[in-house]
Amino acid sequence: MTPRRQDFFSSRKMLFLGLAFHLFLLLSPSAARIGYFWHITDIHYDVHYSVSGDIRKSCRRTENKLGGAVGNSRPAGRFGDHNCDSPWDLVESAAKAMKSKHGDNIEFVLWTGDGVAHSPGVSGDHQLERLKNLTHLLRHTFSSQFVFPVLGHDDPNPGLHFGQGYRDVANYWRPWLPTEAIQTFNKGGYYTIERKLQKLRLVMLNTNLCSDIVGNEEDPAGQWAWLEETLQKSQRNRETVYLVGHMPPGVDERQNGGISPYHEVFQARFNQRYLRLVRKYSDIIVGQFFGHLHSDSFRIVYSDTGRPVSWIFLTPAVSPKKTPSGANNPGLRLYKFDTDSGQVLDYRQYYLDLDAANRQNVAEWQPEYNFTDHYGLNEVSAHELHNLVESFAVQEGATLFSRYYRANSVRFHHNTEGCDASCAHTHYCAITRLDYQEFRSCLETAASALASAGVIALCIPWSLLVLLLMPLLHALVQSVLMPSFGGLHYS
Ligand SMILES: [Zn+2]
Ligand SMILES: [Zn+2]
Repeated sequence: MTPRRQDFFSSRKMLFLGLAFHLFLLLSPSAARIGYFWHITDIHYDVHYSVSGDIRKSCRRTENKLGGAVGNSRPAGRFGDHNCDSPWDLVESAAKAMKSKHGDNIEFVLWTGDGVAHSPGVSGDHQLERLKNLTHLLRHTFSSQFVFPVLGHDDPNPGLHFGQGYRDVANYWRPWLPTEAIQTFNKGGYYTIERKLQKLRLVMLNTNLCSDIVGNEEDPAGQWAWLEETLQKSQRNRETVYLVGHMPPGVDERQNGGISPYHEVFQARFNQRYLRLVRKYSDIIVGQFFGHLHSDSFRIVYSDTGRPVSWIFLTPAVSPKKTPSGANNPGLRLYKFDTDSGQVLDYRQYYLDLDAANRQNVAEWQPEYNFTDHYGLNEVSAHELHNLVESFAVQEGATLFSRYYRANSVRFHHNTEGCDASCAHTHYCAITRLDYQEFRSCLETAASALASAGVIALCIPWSLLVLLLMPLLHALVQSVLMPSFGGLHYS
């Protein structure tokens, strides 16, 4: 056999083996493939951010006691400021970081809204222009991938312009969206993406239609009927589903001890409706991804019998701006998942230490943590998340809570000093009680337990009291609200 003939045979043999391998992958029922996707949210690009100019007029100003603007001696940072939304340098550095950290090895990008800065009074046309800049940047960064965007509450608000507003935005996003998606987007800013070769379906919601802007309408733009129909169809077709939106159901976990309607972004009836749907279709919903709160947190949805059946991940904002609930460092998140089933396997949170970036004049986005390692979890599931949050309330879980709390502000807070026991309890209630009434009961049960113990009269500081009574309160809340949890692990 001549060497040439041997090469020929070995290359045919290789070809055959290659084909056989591909056939095996196609036919094998367990042909799981690991893939990645980015989740980026709340960029809030501020076109007016400036490192020079009169700081009394810029976002870096602070308010004096009479409510007037006063100068702030802090130097302007090139990559932004915790009093401001994102300058272009920060936005661009985030896009570059995503490209350099994981290249083209991603399946898609979820972009969950609030692309433009918090700027009341800015015209819709100006906002559209900024959205166009961001769209252009992401298209350029991910030239061979699809970005699936949803509308945020600070984006050009198409709900107020009815059909035309949606069509204006859809024109920018048209390269990423198939025709059917454009049709429903034009109707109400929502759409679904069917991933032809996989079982996973993305359901992209317009959560502005769940807020007060829609008044008493029963089914604004027909989104609820569409959502239920889409979930029914997915169940029939044995698909799995990701629900993706801007504003999450439930409340803000950072409202320290207070119960403010400001933080209840869904109308109560829509909050309940969303939770009912998630419970009903929890067997096919394998992930829920939201932004808006600018913090890093998660939520657990329980069945009517108190079983953890679904989870929601909240990705922190790119914008470092202090919201009424606090500031954060800029964040980006990379998910690892089974591309066929959609099962989320893990995520890696990246962050930018904003002060360091400004000091060094270079934006070095770094890994902050890997989810399963950070919390010592075996897998990403509602049950594991339930065990994690229950551990926050016991002494042995203090380390895990401080890890969670540091991540919650993307390392803006390095320790739990600013979070007393009542703050910790609010986090616990927000994570586990998405129904507004249950959330209030969760907080009030703690308060009334203290009062009935008669300890308030002792004038011990409130935070110390809650800390001392935390295990008792916790057991009480569990027994009152979730009597059927008996068989589950709590610590
Ligand atoms: Zn936002
Ligand atoms: Zn928002």
